[in-house]
Amino acid sequence: MKFGGTSVADGSRLKNVASLIKRFYERKNEVIIVVSALSGVTDQLEEIARKASEEGRIADVNAFMERLRERHYEVAQEAIAGAEIKSVVEELDARLNDLENALISICHLRELTGRSHDYISSFGERLSASILSGALKSMKLRSMALIGGDAGIVTDSNFENARPLFDMTNSKVQERLLPLLKKETIPVITGFVAADTKGIITTLGRGGSDYTASIIGAAVEADEIWIWTDVDGIMTADPRIVPEARTLSAISYLEAMELSYFGAKVLHPKTIEPAIQKGIPVRVRNTFNPEHPGTLIIKAHEEIKDIVKAVTLIQNVALINISGSGMAGTPGVAGRVFSALARVGANVMMISQGSSEANISLVIDEPQLDLSLHALKREFAENIVKDISYDENICAIAVVGAGMAGTPGVAGRVFSALGRVGANVMMISQGSSEANISLVVSRADACKAIRALHDEFKLGAER
Ligand code: ASP
Ligand code: MG
Repeated sequence: MKFGGTSVADGSRLKNVASLIKRFYERKNEVIIVVSALSGVTDQLEEIARKASEEGRIADVNAFMERLRERHYEVAQEAIAGAEIKSVVEELDARLNDLENALISICHLRELTGRSHDYISSFGERLSASILSGALKSMKLRSMALIGGDAGIVTDSNFENARPLFDMTNSKVQERLLPLLKKETIPVITGFVAADTKGIITTLGRGGSDYTASIIGAAVEADEIWIWTDVDGIMTADPRIVPEARTLSAISYLEAMELSYFGAKVLHPKTIEPAIQKGIPVRVRNTFNPEHPGTLIIKAHEEIKDIVKAVTLIQNVALINISGSGMAGTPGVAGRVFSALARVGANVMMISQGSSEANISLVIDEPQLDLSLHALKREFAENIVKDISYDENICAIAVVGAGMAGTPGVAGRVFSALGRVGANVMMISQGSSEANISLVVSRADACKAIRALHDEFKLGAER
């Protein structure tokens, strides 16, 4: 079970999480817990680290530490009853002391490497794991807090976005955690924090606690991996745009992956991969509404009658159009486009090229637009490419459903529905998995396009 930052944002929520764990544990389940930092803390740690390296003011560090200490003390006091509080406060003090020393060093050094970034941002989870484990102990359960690396997650040394080394991780996680389960001890593991082969702290990238849970769940071959969050599950659309949107009771791995890559923020995109490897069901549930069964993510998709499962919207993207008649029949142009973008670290979300080969369109994250345009202009200084244009005033929409594969007429329904509400489609792409049709519309058309698609496939209807 993984609990996200909003689920442990304050003392009463954290206490509620501890009682949920107790409830499932007492039903004769073996449970392993993964926890995020208290909400907002990782952002604050990144911010103070950056500030310390840029401005070097120890007074800022002191003020920050004061606030962080207060908040964690307060949460611990509220969540932990009895004598247990003393040892938890000692643990918190030791951790906070380490953090303060690191931040002061950064003030002196005035540099922030990826490696120090990961060390500093690991503290949010290290503090929350100590508190949650203490809360469980104060409820008379056996528990132990562990840093991701000590729980057996080994990664490469690609700081800030480290990748797990699965062979090593799988055996090490079993070796570390199974004996604890045998001793009826509930491990509470820091989300998103791991260690490289030398034991140096790494992180799996922002939002990576979900991924931690599935890495561990897969390694111990759990019966299920539960992601406890602050919504009932994965929805047919964003309810702020479509009021009739509803929670999906079950979807397939493939659909969940498409949805998480395309804007549904409920799950970190990498979460599903380790679960697929071992065929473990993933369940998304709501800590604030624990009676709701949530969304179950499994191997098979529901019967084909649910052709489309959900519609997502991605904002903050931009369209780039590369054109020139010289591109047709010239091998290597696409290769050069993508290599140039890869060199500057631009993330390409959609691609499309018509068979005339005279233009290539792509969608990238908007903050990377300038960088990308610059890279492309430099790459194509000669005249194979005539024109590189862009449009920032767009959104990407994805229509997702495994039942679309092999069902004729779905694309027709998508585009007719958009035509009826006058939403102009600027770019289209469909992967050959056929589980996703993605398209680009102007920002002004985005909401009505999403509503039209949700209506067309009757996604709001109970079933
Ligand atoms: N605390 C980390 C973050 O905010 C990891 C997580 O919450 O999943 O990115
Ligand atoms: Mg989070």
